[in-house]
Amino acid sequence: MDKIVALAKRRGFIYPGSEIYGGLANTYDYGPVGAELLRNIKNLWWKYFVQARPDMVGIDGSIISHHKIWEASGHVAGFADAMIDCKNCKSRYRADHIIEDHFSAKSEEKNVEGLSTKELDEIIEKEKITCPNCGKIEWTKVRKFNLLFPVQLGIVEGEGGMGYLRGETAQLIFTNFRNVVDSTRVRLPFGIAQLGKSFRNEITPGNSVFRTIEFEQAEIEYFFDPDETKWEPLYEEWKNAMNVFVTEKLGVKKENLRWRTHTDEERSFYSKRTEDMEYKFPFGFKELWGLAYRTDYDLTAHKEASKKDLTIIDPKTQKRILPHVIEPAVGINRLLLMVLADAYQEEENRTVLKITPKLAPYKVAVFPLLANKEDLVAKARKVFELLSPEFMTAFDDRGNIGKRYLSQDEIGTPWCVTIDFDTLDNDTVTIRDRDTTKQERIAIKDLLSYFEEKLQS
Ligand code: ATP
Repeated sequence: MDKIVALAKRRGFIYPGSEIYGGLANTYDYGPVGAELLRNIKNLWWKYFVQARPDMVGIDGSIISHHKIWEASGHVAGFADAMIDCKNCKSRYRADHIIEDHFSAKSEEKNVEGLSTKELDEIIEKEKITCPNCGKIEWTKVRKFNLLFPVQLGIVEGEGGMGYLRGETAQLIFTNFRNVVDSTRVRLPFGIAQLGKSFRNEITPGNSVFRTIEFEQAEIEYFFDPDETKWEPLYEEWKNAMNVFVTEKLGVKKENLRWRTHTDEERSFYSKRTEDMEYKFPFGFKELWGLAYRTDYDLTAHKEASKKDLTIIDPKTQKRILPHVIEPAVGINRLLLMVLADAYQEEENRTVLKITPKLAPYKVAVFPLLANKEDLVAKARKVFELLSPEFMTAFDDRGNIGKRYLSQDEIGTPWCVTIDFDTLDNDTVTIRDRDTTKQERIAIKDLLSYFEEKLQS
């Protein structure tokens, strides 16, 4: 993990947030290649789950939202982590994290989700868990700490002017459900997708962007009539779609993935089934993507709190219903960290990110063989101008060719094109493949179709 974090910083994927002012815990900024990778993952998600499906539409809700949304959804009352403070060194931790870490240090797995603060206190005391920072046992009692960020808006004074930064994107889908039904041609079963920032006041153990206070969430609410559509096969279809996305679209190795079913204690009372797709991060198998059958819990909550009729008439059956939902919810930043971890490889003479080409920040890098030969540089510029409108293309004339290859390997660029003296004679270039390091020679006029074909497969 340390190596991946170091590479991510050194090569411009991920920087610590507010770094020149000493940093701000649990925030990160994305550098030039990180921003590309993030955007590529977002676009791929949107393309696969929205664009390519006739039964899906997308929305883009506002980040600051009415406090009543979050009261109705249950977040104001219940969206809290159990925290514990060390009285000696004043460090604050999530109680579940220090317990889980304590057991994993003994090579045991312990899931404490759903336990009460009292039960967590008892485990910490019984196991004599020490403070990871100072090693003392001087804990406060475990307390609940709400994760929502309140914002005081200028429009109305007092309570009425209170909003929240959204703690998830899902609630905006529910509150816009009637708007979408009334303004589009959707028909059950159908899904509404949203991708955007969510905010949670989290205390985290610092595994880079795995858990941050601000993150990109990609959520889908798939609405259906439980009398018309059986939820079990639908649930399996979504599981399959998630599997396909991670393995085929993001190119992640199957053996690093597993599914975990939530226990009765940790599953929300309204959910009939919840499973997490987990990825084997360098710090262990952790939740990547949640899939929950949430029944009509959320629409019912908003219907009751807003006193608005959120039921719809199904044109097929003429029945008035409040649909049920299946919700796949993922963090794009977590997907990005997974992609980096899965692609990272150390070989004898190089470190290489074997990112699937569709996701790679740069698809191609163009090099003039020598930086001080005007003809070569001018020709290389021409090749850059040919490729860059179609693909993210890097241009590099610093140092020797070998070093330039290694530099592109570290940011996962799949192909490097070199303009040499033969190019000036016959308009051909060499293409060097990141994964095999083999080179082939092809005509400049065939370059565009060569890469287009490669990127389609
Ligand atoms: P966790 O148990 O890890 O806190 P959660 O069960 O609260 O997550 P959900 O509310 O179901 O998570 O959110 C869905 C997805 O959003 C998660 O699977 C994860 O990929 C992502 N996610 C949630 N919180 C964060 C965060 N603080 N930083 C980055 N991604 C997050």
